[in-house]
Amino acid sequence: MKKIKEIEFDMFENGLDFIDNALKPILDNHDDHDLKYSVLHIYAGTELILKEILKTEHWSLIFENINKANIMQLASGDFESASFETTIYRLENVANVSIPENAKKYIRQLRNKRNRMEHFAFKEIDAAIKSNVSKVLSHVIELIRDNLEIKKYSKRSQQLHASILKKSAKFNEFTNLTNAKLAKDLEILKKEKVRLIDCPECFQHTLPLNENLTCLFCGYNDTPENVVTEYVEKILGINGYEVIKDGGYYPVEACPDCHSDTLLVRNDTYLCFSCKEEWKHNELKHCEWCNYLFHEKDVEVGMCQDCIEHNIERYISGD
Ligand SMILES: [Zn+2]
Ligand SMILES: [Zn+2]
Ligand SMILES: [Zn+2]
Repeated sequence: MKKIKEIEFDMFENGLDFIDNALKPILDNHDDHDLKYSVLHIYAGTELILKEILKTEHWSLIFENINKANIMQLASGDFESASFETTIYRLENVANVSIPENAKKYIRQLRNKRNRMEHFAFKEIDAAIKSNVSKVLSHVIELIRDNLEIKKYSKRSQQLHASILKKSAKFNEFTNLTNAKLAKDLEILKKEKVRLIDCPECFQHTLPLNENLTCLFCGYNDTPENVVTEYVEKILGINGYEVIKDGGYYPVEACPDCHSDTLLVRNDTYLCFSCKEEWKHNELKHCEWCNYLFHEKDVEVGMCQDCIEHNIERYISGD
């Protein structure tokens, strides 16, 4: 069984690796010729990801001819794997995976581009390639989000997935597309005055600080404590472990309102990821006794309400 496990990871890793590679020429943007490889790579990667999703239903489904499905051949990789159309058909009709019509349309468009490239001299303008690649990329990321559990895959797969998300955030055509797709949801949040922060998973500015604490784009979701930790590490680039080891300031404090350790210290404001309260820097002060932050206007002395009460109690009980 071990061998089969290895190949399982290989296919997904391989698919992610192709997609990750497809994004390099787009971001470098110095040689139009390289964009050709974006098309070839993103198509190859997309096919593998679709097969990976199909394989979670049953491994035999990725054989073009299921009657000849053979576990030894699966392990060696030496078999005729399902074609793109077969894969789509089985995903929808056997595995019950819903694939948006647009996803199929854009992937087929990309496949046509790829085929023309392989057989004819290829002339296509940059913008058209980037637009097609960004659309397919967006659907592939959504298909992964909805159908695969990234955390169950190898460390390498997880790293590649993170790298793809990070690169996508720098890909303008992709980010514009994401914002257009989410326009309605973003508008509602704006009306409700919900704050958005950069998502530590996909790096898009699409993580609302509300009850759900779920990224609109990539679906990332966690507790306020974990989100603030990830935010400090991935978005601000501050590693908690290194701060402890080498000294330095870790910009998370206890919130004076909800008392959770989820108050992010930003350049000019404090923002709590639990109760979502925000204060300007001059509105909070460190207590001279316990060092916790408190509302400065509450008390004139440099002591927080808790410390004042504690001291009074001590005074009364005569400790
Ligand atoms: Zn996200
Ligand atoms: Zn709070
Ligand atoms: Zn205090």
